[in-house]
Parts: sequence; C-alpha cells; structure tokens
Amino acid sequence: MVVGDIATGTDLLVIGAGPGGYVAAIRAAQKGIDTTLVEKDAYGGTCLNYGCIPSKALITGANLAHEAGHAEEMGIHADPVVDMSQLRDWKSGVVDQLTGGVEKLCKANGVNLVEGTARFKDENAVRIAHGGEGQGSETIEFEHCIIATGSRVIQIPGFDFGDEPVWSSRDALEADTVPERLVVVGGGYIGMELSTTFAKLGADVTVVEMLDDILPGYESDVARVVRKRAEDLGIDMHFGEGASGWREEDDGIMVTTETEDGEENEYRADKVLVAVGRSPVTDTMDIESAGLEADDRGFLSVDDRRRTDVEHIYAVGDVVEDTPMLAHVASKEGIVAAEHIAGEPVAFDSQAVPAAVFTDPEIGTVGMTEADAEEAGFSPVVGQMPFRASGRALTTNHADGFVRIVADEESGFVLGAQIVGPEASELIAELAFAIEMGATLEDVASTIHTHPTLAEAVMEAAENALGQAIHTLNR
Ligand SMILES: Cc1cc2nc3c(=O)[nH]c(=O)nc-3n(C[C@H](O)[C@H](O)[C@H](O)COP(=O)(O)OP(=O)(O)OC[C@H]3O[C@@H](n4cnc5c(N)ncnc54)[C@H](O)[C@@H]3O)c2cc1C
Repeated sequence: MVVGDIATGTDLLVIGAGPGGYVAAIRAAQKGIDTTLVEKDAYGGTCLNYGCIPSKALITGANLAHEAGHAEEMGIHADPVVDMSQLRDWKSGVVDQLTGGVEKLCKANGVNLVEGTARFKDENAVRIAHGGEGQGSETIEFEHCIIATGSRVIQIPGFDFGDEPVWSSRDALEADTVPERLVVVGGGYIGMELSTTFAKLGADVTVVEMLDDILPGYESDVARVVRKRAEDLGIDMHFGEGASGWREEDDGIMVTTETEDGEENEYRADKVLVAVGRSPVTDTMDIESAGLEADDRGFLSVDDRRRTDVEHIYAVGDVVEDTPMLAHVASKEGIVAAEHIAGEPVAFDSQAVPAAVFTDPEIGTVGMTEADAEEAGFSPVVGQMPFRASGRALTTNHADGFVRIVADEESGFVLGAQIVGPEASELIAELAFAIEMGATLEDVASTIHTHPTLAEAVMEAAENALGQAIHTLNR
C-alpha cells in the first residue's frame, strides 16, 4: 500500500546526519529553532559509519598487534595473532556506541528525526521517500534548509565496486579477513592510512599512485618521513602509474597499470582497494527545483555564513567547494550555519583549519607552510625540533619526524605548523589554538610544557625559531 503524501512544516530542515548535519541540527535546536533532521542511511554519516571512526579503530588494532610483535629490542617477545573478524566486531561496537549517541543527543535536544531520502520539490519544500517500495513519502515545508549530504567514493573506469575483489574504503573497513596481497590504487591520505593498516595486519601491500609521491598537498619532507616508514613496513610503492584494469587469475587477480608513456605493469593481488578521492553528493536531490546549481564537479558555492545563492538554503561539509573534506570542517560549518539562522553574527573563518593523517607516523598540519607565508607577503621565520631530540619520543620508541613552526618574523605571530611524528594529530591542536588566539612564538616558547611530553617539542620548535632552543641546535 502506498501511504499518501502528508505535508508538515519545520523552521529548519537539515538534510544528512553526518558531522555537518547532526551538529548543525543540535546547535539549531539549542538555539530554540524548530529543527527537523532527515537521514537516509545511518546517523553519524560517513565519518562515524564508514570513515574517520572505523578507520581509526582498525588503525589502533593494527598498531597494537604490530607493536607487540616488534618490540624485541625492549626485551618483549610476542607473536600476536589477529582475529580479524573479532577486530571488526570490536570496531563495529565502537561505531554503534557513537551512532546511538548521536541519535540520543539529537532527541534529547529536541531535534525531530525523520528517516528517508530528501528531494527538493521547490525552494521551500522537500519530498521525503521513506525506505523501500511502498513505504510512503511525506512533504516537509521549511523556512530554512541546510544541505549536508556529504560525499561518496569516486569510482574509476575498469574497477566496479560491485565486483568482489574490488574494495572501496568502506569495504576495506568491513573486511573480516586480511588479504594476503593487497594493491592500493591511490597514495592520498585514505590510501596511505589503509595501506599502513593492512601492512601491519600482515598483508603484502603495493601502492600505485599516478603522481610522483604519496600524500599530495603535503610538503615533500613531511611525506618523506611517512614514505620511508611505509618502505620499512614492506609497502611497495610505484609512482607515475595509473590503474587501468584487473582480471581474474588462477591464483587471485592481476591489476594492470599504465604509465604516461604507455608502459604497462602488472601486480598480483587478492584484493584491490581503490582510494582515489571522494565527490560531493548533490546530484540525487533535484537541487535545481530549489533554484540551486552545483559546479561541474558537483560542489555548491557558499558565502562565509555557508549560505548558497538561494539565501535561506545553506550548505555545509563535503558538498561545499573550496574547503577541505574533513569532519571537523563540516561540524564547524554546521555550527556557523545554525547560528546564522538563529540570527547571530557569525562567519566561517578558515584561517586555522587543522588536518591530520593517521599514517605511521602521523601528520598534523595547520595554517601556512613557509612557502604559503612567502606567497602571502610575509617574511617567515621557521623553527624546527626533531623528535629524535625529544626524551619522551625516545621513551615511546617512536622518534621519527619533527615539529615545524612558521611565524611572521616581524610580529612573531604564529602562521602555521607542520608536524610529522608520534601523536601529531593531537599535538597540532596546540598550534591551531595558538593561531586562533593570535599567539606569538614568544607565547608558545614561554609557556611551561610538562616534562617529559611530546608537546615539549612544540615549545622547542618555537624556541628554535627564536634562536633560543636548548635541546636542538639553533639555525
Ligand atoms: C575512510 C575515510 C576516513 C576518513 N577519515 C577522516 C579523518 O580521520 N578525519 C576527518 O576529519 N575526516 C575523515 N574522513 C572524511 C569525513 O568522513 C568527511 O569529511 C565527513 O564525514 C563529512 O561530513 P558531512 O556531514 O559533510 O557528510 P557525511 O558524513 O558524508 O554525511 C552525509 C549524510 O547525508 C546523508 N544523505 C545524503 N543524501 C541524502 C538525502 N538526499 N536525504 C537524506 N540523507 C541524505 C548520507 O546518508 C550521510 O549519512 C574520512 C573519510 C573516509 C571515507
């Protein structure tokens, strides 16, 4: 039986319950706005279900197993056995706990939750299709709308995610066995995080990357530290090659690649993981009916309040052009949009957006590189502290990498930082805060940091920029 189309109204309709949408919905409800959040799949979106959280859970498991099995020099002899399906169940438990928490938080804050797929009817109404065939639909009319529909994996010709040996990142995170041989197409951050994870879990990993290095967008000396460690883990990396196809063999599959000069190479594998990026989900909602138009890659352009060209319709998260596809960016944008709808004088200031890569070692970056600072007209001064000179790094047996701080020579204001090394994803928060607070090198250097901690390396990098470092030679 098809249930008829019932129309209801809401002040704010949020489409998509990822870190952009659910955060926006909660903040709007906190501000007293009558808010409805519609989600077609799972609360928490890509981040909680198929991205940040499950990947970091698997990374934790892989690190633990690998560390325990490689600590002979500390007198620890162990040969850990990884039960992959149990590790997967543990990871799923973490995901369930968090997604259940999101649903409860939304309800506790008074957000109306609607399950279904939203499509625009016009610029003030959507139709929500509930579930599958015969589940009915409803129309929701709104005063304001926030589009937070996120992104999906990019598929490349010759590699259909429907084929069993071809993995998307989501399939890789659901694996209940470790493939003996894994080819990873793409050396970006998702490709490198998963390559490292599966190598540590015992797979023979080959990375194929079209560009001439891993981690495009990161400085070469930062990427070099991760590449060197990946090599030590036995990851075989091939640059300047694009994956062109695969075929079944008696023993697994053969992945073929092609260089720019047309030279072909072949790699044996059991699975091939395609991780070449993500594209925004704006093509399934009839956005044109609301008067919206995406650019040729599917992104929506917004102003600094996250308003689209249709002023009462906002967009946040992975659908937005010109901001990085990161969960914390989506959440911040969601808060800005919600508070602006509530009438507050807010704007999205992307001066200090930190980013982290959970490879081995980790990377954390924020603000400007030295080259960015020069390009922006600053006369930058740079300080660096290698982790091999950090007592705490040595006691954790992870001393590769460095902390680098970039500041304006004249004023001393911290402009940016690049960290590659242990806990870089956590350490970068101090420097994001420093930039946000308008701190100078002097402020960072004169703050007493606990000993012995990795954070002391941040203080030492600032001291190094001032020519006052104690534990490393000044430049
Ligand atoms: C493997 C992996 C690892 C990652 N690791 C990190 C990390 O460590 N740190 C980080 O910051 N980022 C990470 N990301 C990126 C991060 O997941 C995204 O940037 C983030 O989820 C974007 O949030 P969003 O709210 O814009 O969209 P999403 O999280 O994609 O949520 C969008 C939601 O909208 C729903 N939806 C779509 N269309 C409709 C519709 N028409 N009607 C109703 N609902 C709809 C979807 O079902 C989905 O739940 C990772 C991504 C992947 C794939």
